[in-house]
Amino acid sequence: MKTKKTSIPRREFLENIGKAVGSSVMIRALVAMGLGSGMSSCGSSSAESPSLQNNSSTESSSSASTGPVSSGSYTSLKSPRPGDWPAGSGAGKSVTILGAGIAGMASAYELLKLGYSISILEATDRTGGRNRTIRSGDTVNELNFSQTCNFDIDSELYFNPGPARIAHHHEFLLGYCREFGVELENFTNDNKAALLHSSSAFGGKPQVAKTVFSDVRGNISELLASAINQNALDETLTSTDKTNILDMLRRYGDLNGGNYKYEGTSRAGFYGQENVGSRDRDIQIATKDLQDLVVDSFPIWRIDFSQGANQQPSMLQPKGGMDKIARAFQTRVSQYLTTEAVVKQIKKTSEGAKVIYEKNGISFEVESDYCICTIPATVLKSIQNDFSSNHQDEINAFQYSIATKIAFQSRRFWEQDHNIYGGISWTNQDITQVWYPSNALGTTNGIIVGAYIWGNSAASVFSNQSIQQRIDSAILQGNNLHSEYQNEVSRGLSVAWRDVPYQLGAYGVSSASTLLTPDDNIIFAGEHLSNLSGWQEGAILSAYHAINEITKKVTA
Ligand SMILES: Cc1cc2nc3c(=O)[nH]c(=O)nc-3n(C[C@H](O)[C@H](O)[C@H](O)COP(=O)(O)OP(=O)(O)OC[C@H]3O[C@@H](n4cnc5c(N)ncnc54)[C@H](O)[C@@H]3O)c2cc1C
Repeated sequence: MKTKKTSIPRREFLENIGKAVGSSVMIRALVAMGLGSGMSSCGSSSAESPSLQNNSSTESSSSASTGPVSSGSYTSLKSPRPGDWPAGSGAGKSVTILGAGIAGMASAYELLKLGYSISILEATDRTGGRNRTIRSGDTVNELNFSQTCNFDIDSELYFNPGPARIAHHHEFLLGYCREFGVELENFTNDNKAALLHSSSAFGGKPQVAKTVFSDVRGNISELLASAINQNALDETLTSTDKTNILDMLRRYGDLNGGNYKYEGTSRAGFYGQENVGSRDRDIQIATKDLQDLVVDSFPIWRIDFSQGANQQPSMLQPKGGMDKIARAFQTRVSQYLTTEAVVKQIKKTSEGAKVIYEKNGISFEVESDYCICTIPATVLKSIQNDFSSNHQDEINAFQYSIATKIAFQSRRFWEQDHNIYGGISWTNQDITQVWYPSNALGTTNGIIVGAYIWGNSAASVFSNQSIQQRIDSAILQGNNLHSEYQNEVSRGLSVAWRDVPYQLGAYGVSSASTLLTPDDNIIFAGEHLSNLSGWQEGAILSAYHAINEITKKVTA
C-alpha cells in the first residue's frame, strides 16, 4: 500500500492528467465544466454573473443571484436576525422607513414587533418595489413608455418581471412565506429537455441540453479514466483509489465498463425523441466529440449554471406570482404606509432625522428618531440630503446592473410539442434566456419569458429600443430556438429596469462599505447593501442589519 498524500495540489493533479491526455483538450473541457480558472461559478439573478456573458457586461463585479459576491464589511458568519434584539426595545422610539420594497417592509414588520412606532413612505402606488407580478390589465410604466398587459384574464397567466425564483436556502424569505401562509410550488430552473443554442456551434442548431450534458460527462470521464489507466496519477492515487475512481467514472460518464471508453449513452436520448416523446427508441443520438463541445462559445451555454449556490435545485416560487409575498407583508404594515409619497429631502436633526416628501403635489414633513433608507442608490443619489461626504460619495459611485425581461402569452408548444416542462433554454443571442413557466403545467396556454437579459451591453440594446422593437427582436431571436415563435407567441410585454421610475437599475453590483455604517441616525438598507445582492433574501438581510444598527444605538 502506497502512502497517500494528504492533499493533492490541484494544479499538479491537473497537470498530470494533462500530460496523459493532452493538456489543451483537458483545459478547455474543464473550463467548459466550470472547473478551470477561466470560469467562475456564477449564473444569472435571475441574475447571475453578468460579467461572464460574452454578449454583455463590462461590470466589475458579479452580483445578483449567483456566486460569491464581494461583501464589503459583511464578513460575519452569523448576521443579525429576529430574536437577536431585546423584546420591547423600540418602545417610545420612532423610525421612518423610505421605500416599501422587501427591505422596507421587512424592516417595518420586525420593528413593529419590537415596539417601535413606524411610518413607511413609498413613491409608487403599490408596494413590493422590484417584487412585482404583472397580470391582465396592469399598466407598466417606464420613463418613456407605458404598456398595458393584455394577457387573458387567468390567475395562472402572469409575469414576474423582477424576482421569479427563490433558492431553497433563502431561509428568511421562505420563513416569511411560511409565517404568512404564502403557498409555494417548485420552480424548475434546470431542465435537461431545454435547449442550448449557440449561433456558432453545431451549425446554429439548438442542442437539447441532455445530449450536451451527457456527452460532456462521458468524454471527461473517459479522459480521466485514460489518465488513471496510463498510471499518470500514481503519485497521488493509491491502487484502491484508482479502482474506486474508475468505478465512479464508469457510472458518472456511463462508460463502457470493459475499456472505460465513452461510446454514447441513452441518457442523451434518441433521435426524434425531443419531438415525439418516448415512442421511438431506435437510434441513440450520436455522441459529440469533446473538441466540438468546447468550441469557444461553449462556456456561455452555461453547463455550470445550476451548480451555483443560489441556483441549485430545489428552487421555489409563490403560487400565483411573486407579489404574493409583497401583498402578505403589505397586509401586516398597511396602516403605517403612505403610497405615492415621493421622498424629496432627507436631513439629519439633533434628535434624529427629518424627511420631506410630496404627495399629490403637496409637501409634507415627517420627523423621527431614526430613518431606514431603502431607496436604490440609483435614485437616492439625486435626492437632496445632508449625508456625510463619505456616504454620499459611495452612493454616487454605486454601480447597478441593468436588466430587461420580455414575456409573451402562447400555446404551451414547448410542453405539447417538445416535452419541456419548466426550465430555461440558453442562447448566445441577446435574448440570453427563454424561461418556460413552472406553474399550471399541462394547461393550454402559458406565459413564456422570451428574454432575460442582464449586464450593460445587450440589456442596453433592448432598453434603448421601442416596445415594438424589443418584441420584434425577441420573436426573431426566439425563432432560432423554436420555430413556433413566429406564429404562436403574442401579447408581448417588456420591462427594462434601467428605465423603471424609482428603480433606475436592476441590482447593485458594487461592494458596500461606508453605507453599511449609519450616518448618525440614518441607516441604509436594500439588496445592494447585502452579501446577497440581486436577491430578495439580500433585501431582508439588509433590513436585519439596519435594525441591528438601530438596536445598538437604542440600547447603548
Ligand atoms: C430582473 C430582476 C430579476 C431578479 N430576480 C430575482 C429572483 O429570481 N429572486 C430573488 O429573490 N430576487 C431577484 N431579484 C432581486 C430582488 O428583486 C431584489 O433584491 C429585491 O426585490 C430588492 O428589494 P429592496 O427592498 O432592496 O428594493 P426595492 O424593491 O427596489 O424597493 C425600494 C423601494 O423604494 C421606493 N422608492 C424609490 N424612490 C423613492 C422615493 N424617492 N421616495 C419613496 N420611495 C421610493 C421604490 O418605489 C421601491 O418600492 C431580481 C431583480 C431584478 C431586477
